[in-house]
Amino acid sequence: MMSEFSDEQCDKGDGSDVVNQSELLTEGCSAESINPRASAMKEDLAFIRECITPAAVITVSKEYVTLVIIRTQYSRVQFHVGYTEAYPFELPTLELSSPTLPIPLLQNKQKECLENARPLLGQSMMKALYEPIHKFIHTNMFIPCWKEMKQISTLCENKGKIGADEKEGVVLLKLNCCKYKHTVKLKVPYNYPEDGVKVEFSNSNFPEDIQYMFQSQVDEIVRRCAAGATVEQAMQVSNPIKFAEIASKSVTPTPRLTTNNLLSLKHDVGVLKQISDLRVATTSGSKAKYVTQVNAERREARRDLRKLAREESAADQEAQKAILEEEQNEMKDLIKGKASETAQPSLYAAAHFLVEDFACRLPLELCQACKKPVLPELPESEKPPDSAPSTSKTRAARANLKPMRTFCGHWLHFQCLNEWLTTPPFVRMCPVCARRIWHPDWPEDHKQLEKAWQANEARKREMCDVSDFMGMGEKFSAK
Ligand SMILES: [Zn+2]
Ligand SMILES: [Zn+2]
Repeated sequence: MMSEFSDEQCDKGDGSDVVNQSELLTEGCSAESINPRASAMKEDLAFIRECITPAAVITVSKEYVTLVIIRTQYSRVQFHVGYTEAYPFELPTLELSSPTLPIPLLQNKQKECLENARPLLGQSMMKALYEPIHKFIHTNMFIPCWKEMKQISTLCENKGKIGADEKEGVVLLKLNCCKYKHTVKLKVPYNYPEDGVKVEFSNSNFPEDIQYMFQSQVDEIVRRCAAGATVEQAMQVSNPIKFAEIASKSVTPTPRLTTNNLLSLKHDVGVLKQISDLRVATTSGSKAKYVTQVNAERREARRDLRKLAREESAADQEAQKAILEEEQNEMKDLIKGKASETAQPSLYAAAHFLVEDFACRLPLELCQACKKPVLPELPESEKPPDSAPSTSKTRAARANLKPMRTFCGHWLHFQCLNEWLTTPPFVRMCPVCARRIWHPDWPEDHKQLEKAWQANEARKREMCDVSDFMGMGEKFSAK
């Protein structure tokens, strides 16, 4: 481990202030009784050696210690402690830096760490300085989306309540608009933003088909962000109404090879071996033969056991070493690794879409044709049970008033949109944004719609002719 520290120092090529760690250690030992500074620094060093993977140690010197605390590329902080002349009778300097965290937050955390170490004045402080920030990086799932969380709280002002669970990485938005309410659960996954945020709806009184539509749209926005589209791009292409249902991928996690399950695996192998040994022993013939065989087997087994024990302990050490090495390599990869160049954050994009385009907008949205609200004033679930008995007539009326979102993102009732798209002039522009009114449930080719309309008109005329004829006939017979 010592050599690895010096390797790191050589790699860094730092100047004269970086000393060999063993020098530091010997100096500490010899002067321990009279030099509290060396003694505290020796203890600091012992903490680093014991608790921090060498790959995460950048520099250790008489003047300063630099470490990396990392969970993912987006949850990492550089931890830099500068020893003052008066250490440990004075707090050292602490500097935290991070590519993803805002400076005021880092400054707050610096203060928190220093305050945590203050009661230890006169003693080693490294552990007390390190632990609060280490815990923060490893338990707060919002670290990769700190700025987005701030944006969301601004977004939801006067629109509802926000709840957040930093350990679970869950943001709960309880949104209200007119008589409508809707709760959105946004879960920030471990590998955010490479993995997009997970969106779940609950406690909503919006019509179910509308909820379904927005659920597919928000899932699509998240997918696009994670695939590299910016928030603006992801939103721009979010208007088409229909999406293929995304097959839910069930991912079975691969078990991680840890010391513990490696040892239990070894235990299982041992038990299996004993069982097979026993089988060999019980298949032999006469008692005497059996006894001698048992004795011989016992001797052999003891010999085997000793041999096995030697091998085992060697193998154990090998295994431990291999595991340590693997951990080291993982850590090195993580530290040297780069943040994804493609993945874009999806948390704010999802929240923005659901607040601004759905839950807090739809109840206020007017039908572009009849200029009445696209949603009924009272949600279906809020209506008194006896007010609207469900008959085929009321169901048809509801279907006619179903809100439809057109390609441009504006809304019309089903019957209003149907009339616009199936009667002359067939091609209409949205009164708000002047884009062509279009919806995938109707043919895009207006000639097709025109033909259908003409056929319909012809049929109507025919019906009129027939009834005229019938009327005439009646008159005729009456005469
Ligand atoms: Zn309408
Ligand atoms: Zn429009």
